[in-house]
Amino acid sequence: MKIFVTGGAGYIGSHVVKALGERGHDVLVYDDLSTGNEWAVLHGRMMAASLADKATLSGVMKEFMPDAVMHFAASIVVHESVAYPVKYYLNNTACTLNLIEAMLDARVGRLIFSSTAAVYGIASSPVPESAPLAPINPYGTSKMMNEIILRDTSAAYDNLFRYVSLRYFNVAGADEKGRIGQAYRNPTHLITRALKTAKGELDRLDIYGTDYPTPDGTCIRDYIHVEDLAHAHVLALDYLSGGGESTVLNCGYGHGFSVRRVIAEAKKVTGIDFKVAECGRREGDPPELVAANEKIISVLGWVPSHDDLEYIIRTAWEWERKLR
Ligand code: UDP
Repeated sequence: MKIFVTGGAGYIGSHVVKALGERGHDVLVYDDLSTGNEWAVLHGRMMAASLADKATLSGVMKEFMPDAVMHFAASIVVHESVAYPVKYYLNNTACTLNLIEAMLDARVGRLIFSSTAAVYGIASSPVPESAPLAPINPYGTSKMMNEIILRDTSAAYDNLFRYVSLRYFNVAGADEKGRIGQAYRNPTHLITRALKTAKGELDRLDIYGTDYPTPDGTCIRDYIHVEDLAHAHVLALDYLSGGGESTVLNCGYGHGFSVRRVIAEAKKVTGIDFKVAECGRREGDPPELVAANEKIISVLGWVPSHDDLEYIIRTAWEWERKLR
């Protein structure tokens, strides 16, 4: 199949492009390289262009005429979204509208969308897809708005337009062969920051809050290996191609680890007793965010292969050591 992948040069997108390549799909990556890297595209062709450029987008869509679109391109830093909400509503909400419009114009009707657990805000875990959407920052709101737009578009054009929205929990880890992984300039994620501290790039790792109502006082998250997430995209593609209805699916393992537990595992995997400091809470962090994952298992037949914190951290560490 021909697959058009926005943001395919980024962390998650590049792992999905690799998985699509392994299955023999014809991939065209469309990425403005604002945070992605051309070297991360291991398969297919890459075009450096922006989703804000409607004329280019529409032209490429009509020329390539994909069987499906996967949409990863987005701004994803929560605290930045609080400071610069307009950037997030433009890059995430408005650019997704441009993409949907270009798809409808070209009569391309299958979309796999990167959503996020941030649409739930402060929810009780494990959180099902049916939980109310109550994002607590512009990043989550920009993705929630996308989901509403997708729902309404699918309802209006059901014969043509169907989508799967995948709500990612905490994605981590890297390619087993160490070819691709996270390469953000200013990473904010716990596992990446822990490993950069082990590597000596950061002086110390701050724990944001030790007074949460959890067994060890630190926040609990559902960490999912990026390869398992990539596999969910491949299955979502098969599902839509097989005539599946539009749907929304959580992507997580259904259990979580505290910040302290992740740090202990990172110290074990790296063999380095890096410096850790206990700090105040980071604004907008829910105490616990764990996926209810029965729906993705039953709808897609998804079976995780890497539900193992040690493996997640080890692959991330092997990648991190290669990064300059
Ligand atoms: N966290 C932390 N120190 C860091 C980065 C993150 O204590 O340097 C905590 C953060 O407060 C949250 C958890 O680790 O409770 C996961 O944060 P991350 O940014 O990785 O993902 P999020 O759940 O915010 O999407």
